[in-house]
Amino acid sequence: MRAIQAATYGDSSVLSLNDAPVPEPGDDEALVKLEYAGINFIDVYMREGRYKESRTYINSPPFTIGMEGSGTIAKTGPGVSHIKEGDRVAYCLSLGSYAEYAAVPAWRLVKVPDDVDLQIGAALMLQGCTAHYLSHSLFPLEEGHTCLIHAAAGGVGQTLVQLAKLRGAYVIATAGTDEKAEIARACGADFAINYNETDFAQVVEDITDGRKADVVYDSVGAATYERSMKCLKKRGTLALFGAASGRVPPIDPIELAESGSIVLTRPHPADSMQNFSEINNRAQDLFGHIAAGRLKAVIDTVFPIQDAKTAHDTIEGRLTKGKLLLEI
Ligand code: NDP
Repeated sequence: MRAIQAATYGDSSVLSLNDAPVPEPGDDEALVKLEYAGINFIDVYMREGRYKESRTYINSPPFTIGMEGSGTIAKTGPGVSHIKEGDRVAYCLSLGSYAEYAAVPAWRLVKVPDDVDLQIGAALMLQGCTAHYLSHSLFPLEEGHTCLIHAAAGGVGQTLVQLAKLRGAYVIATAGTDEKAEIARACGADFAINYNETDFAQVVEDITDGRKADVVYDSVGAATYERSMKCLKKRGTLALFGAASGRVPPIDPIELAESGSIVLTRPHPADSMQNFSEINNRAQDLFGHIAAGRLKAVIDTVFPIQDAKTAHDTIEGRLTKGKLLLEI
């Protein structure tokens, strides 16, 4: 089969399209014939080796890259009961989706309803379920809450803005250009700014009349976290869920106290999708919103599999305006 592999850790030039053996599904696994693979920032972190010491996402080159996909079940291994050959499925957080076939732990696979396209299935698993976790579990938003969402025109960002609005929160959004701020507004953000031109901490202070935000969803990391802390009410929550601009340095706990006894968390997606029931509940909730027209899965570009390098350059180059997919 064809597979995009990383021969070693490094920049996008380490990716190449290779011939690889079709994997054999083991106990409690299923073989997925992939139609789409999702491109995510975690693929960049994996490729660069930022997770080389991770105990959660074990990897060592050479490996087939990609942590998200959709397609149909080609074969099931021993012990698999909730899915069968021919089912339309989607999944995330199992390595090896930039390929024609992947052997995936069956508990990670959810069925995609007939009225939901497989493109949308792939698009919603990692970014969508993360946005669901952030808005429904990590800090369950409700009417009366104010949230600040960084990189709001990106893959997670656009879904998070929409879900936050569905929960009734007041949404302040940031993005790297005026055009992207407009995208965040089109997703429903009450207020959106270009944070390369405007000090977002001052904006939050001004438009909330000094009350500030209950929660900041910050996936940008190094470039924003200090000012994000300043945007929070006393005992507010900083959900630092990514590091697109670089890793955040160690923080002295007393800084959290001095910032108003804020709660800081750095979630891994693996912990927001711990078992089949949790993944399926999040995914089916999102699919239901899609089918009912309450949520839009914003697909930016679908690249052919051989253009995986360009797809990585696009996400790293801050050029995404929604989800990037590979068509297998
Ligand atoms: P995006 O499509 O949002 O792309 C990342 C965005 O980050 C860019 O478009 C850019 O938006 C912003 N950004 C700011 N500074 C930089 C920089 N120096 N280099 C590159 N991008 C920068 O990607 P995803 O939706 O896939 O992921 C968004 C974030 O969420 C990532 O940090 C990712 O790691 C994290 N994530 C975390 C999960 C979790 O559970 N912990 C799960 C899934 C994703 P702009 O130009 O508007 O600033």
